[in-house]
Amino acid sequence: MSILVTGGAGFIGSHTVVELLNKGENVIIIDNFYNSKPEVLDSIRKITGKDFKFYEIDYTKGEDLEKVFKENKDIESVIHFAGYKAVGESVKKPLEYYTNNVAGTLVLLETMRKYDVKKLVFSSSATVYGDPEIVPITEECKTGGTTNPYGTTKLFIEQILKDLYNSDNNWDIVILRYFNPVGAHESGLIGEEPQGIPNNLMPYIVRVAQGTLKELSIFGNDYNTPDGTGVRDYIHVVDLAKGHIKAIEKLNKENKGLFIYNLGTGHGYSVLDMVKAFEKATGKEVPYKIVERRPGDIAECYSDPKKAEEELGWKATKTLQEMCNDSWNFINKK
Ligand code: UDP
Repeated sequence: MSILVTGGAGFIGSHTVVELLNKGENVIIIDNFYNSKPEVLDSIRKITGKDFKFYEIDYTKGEDLEKVFKENKDIESVIHFAGYKAVGESVKKPLEYYTNNVAGTLVLLETMRKYDVKKLVFSSSATVYGDPEIVPITEECKTGGTTNPYGTTKLFIEQILKDLYNSDNNWDIVILRYFNPVGAHESGLIGEEPQGIPNNLMPYIVRVAQGTLKELSIFGNDYNTPDGTGVRDYIHVVDLAKGHIKAIEKLNKENKGLFIYNLGTGHGYSVLDMVKAFEKATGKEVPYKIVERRPGDIAECYSDPKKAEEELGWKATKTLQEMCNDSWNFINKK
């Protein structure tokens, strides 16, 4: 049996494929390299010493996608990472985001239904909680109030999956809501490679420490948080990848249905905490200045990860120091 991974050359996808191969699973990757590079595939082979099937296709093109299902009758489940993910860009290009993420997912689901593949793990995001009413956030917290089209695509897809499951209980679906993935594989061979100037905090910090960017702009220090800067739940990407293994195991055994899990550490760190942790872990200085708040930002967002621990037997184990070291190691190997 094989697991089809859409967007398997991307940041979270590539780390998940490594864990799947290490576990002895057969993997088929599809990716169009929109936001990733072909070299990643070789890095995955190098890390694991294992091979996999690869199709360079756009998952939104039904005919191309169908070819994959036709040629691989042993596909048993799908992990769906493919999609656009830049918050700022999504505000400028909403149609592209809705087409790629939402319409693309519909193409994938229709194709899966046609070939009677009804096990799916979906990459969602804590962004579906909007500005949370309480922290830590549990899966029962209200969703909605997303502040950009990217977040809304995740919210819409979650709803589509719920409606699909209600229409046909033969589907088995796990929705994983990621908090803030950072870090890289300890080999330094795969990691996060944002194109252009990074939007996210950690990739920005590593570039400042490296000297590629002059200083970090901290978006506001007047939030209602311990030091006034924004608080998030940063999680090592390898921990996150392992959460997918547990989700797949869940789909393959006993209780069936649609399940939703937060994948986070349960700890909130501020922007200043992250700067200090990075400096301590690497011995590099990260100059910064305080600037205006970023529109659409929220003060605090961190998870209650208990449900995933109780039901999946999964828990994040990597420390903030490992997140910083592995991000730094990756960028220096480039
Ligand atoms: N942030 C910052 N400067 C940057 C990038 C991010 O101060 O150059 C802050 C941002 O305001 C937020 C935190 O870092 O409080 C995490 O931002 P990121 O974009 O990485 O994640 P998200 O806001 O989507 O959770």
